[in-house]
Amino acid sequence: MKKIAIIGVTGSIGKSTIEVVRRHPDRFRIALATAHSNPQKLIELKKELNIEDAVLTDPENGAEKNSAVLYGQEELFRLLAEKEYDVVINAVSGSAGLVYSYQTLKNKHALALANKESLVLAGHILTKMSDRILPVDSEHSALFQVMSGLQKSDVKNLILTASGGPFLDTPLDRFSEITPKQALNHPTWSMGAKITIDSATMFNKGLEVIEAHWLFGIEYSRIKAVIHPQSIIHSCVECKDGSILSQMSRPSMQLPILYALSYPDHIESDVIQTNMLDLPPLTFCPIEKHRYPLYFLTLEAGKAGGLMPSAMNAANEAAIKLFLENKIPFTGIYRIVADYLNSFTNIENPDIDTILEANSHIFEEVYNSK
Ligand code: NAD
Ligand code: MG
Repeated sequence: MKKIAIIGVTGSIGKSTIEVVRRHPDRFRIALATAHSNPQKLIELKKELNIEDAVLTDPENGAEKNSAVLYGQEELFRLLAEKEYDVVINAVSGSAGLVYSYQTLKNKHALALANKESLVLAGHILTKMSDRILPVDSEHSALFQVMSGLQKSDVKNLILTASGGPFLDTPLDRFSEITPKQALNHPTWSMGAKITIDSATMFNKGLEVIEAHWLFGIEYSRIKAVIHPQSIIHSCVECKDGSILSQMSRPSMQLPILYALSYPDHIESDVIQTNMLDLPPLTFCPIEKHRYPLYFLTLEAGKAGGLMPSAMNAANEAAIKLFLENKIPFTGIYRIVADYLNSFTNIENPDIDTILEANSHIFEEVYNSK
């Protein structure tokens, strides 16, 4: 029986993790769960799933304090330092997730990482703290599974797949009219708001290239991405001899979550069944620069390294908030991030405090500029 900690249990990945645990009560037990807001939901889950410890990380959000719950980040950090967990899953959204990855690895727990931003901001730090971060992102879970049968010297390229998001076929002259409601409506995945907007702009795929760079230690020139609208092939490894190996399933985050929890085993499970005869035709097309300029910007920031990916991500988080508040058009997200990075002076090899400080400072600066 594995003892699982879920940071961000009330979000989309958190809920899928609960589903996986519910289907495998003989394998997994949730020993710790956190939420940032929604104390009521956290209390309900604690009771229903018999969770030992529940922490509301933002104590300001709890209307009335309840003795079933612990309050504040420090309580979570204390538990991570004092208790044993077999796997800690970081399911927090955005740059806010970095501190939790850092604390998890500092306390020598196995980290199952959904929060890709952790590696985007601090891949150079986190990968030194652990040589085995378990990916939850579906593309990276696919690569991780395929790579386990290969030697690094066999690999020519990593090929990430991207759904293309909701605007794959939208005429370009309509992009400035795209509303938050339209951008929040993803065709193949149901996810939290931030990653859904990032999928519409393809910023998400750029974050994933950076994530893959750190997880697999492959240089940027050998990490590619293609659009695959059906989201059946979750990513591929192209070997030097020309073979392309991939992992497939119908789209569901439960499968990569299950593998991160059951690793190194593939356990008997029915979380997702894929009948190949029921699948639609699988198609692929390139990522067009004029449709997804943010994707190409992220690659430059990734290659620049240092504090640049953090600056890019903070500017993007501020721009998303402005878009969701109807203060800028959809196309303004790219404009804001590009303009900010144009005037940004990079810092090499930043430490964790520098990253965290820059992250909140840049977010405020960009958000308040509109
Ligand atoms: P979400 O917005 O649905 O949930 C976020 C969770 O984090 C919630 O439980 C929330 O209470 C908590 N949270 C928010 N701010 C916090 C803070 N400052 N401190 C602590 N907890 C906080 O997000 P999601 O869609 O589940 O995504 C989570 C992460 O997983 C993201 O990094 C995303 O990119 C990644 N991911 C998600 C999916 C998906 O299908 N949703 C797929 C791949 C990767
Ligand atoms: Mg992904």
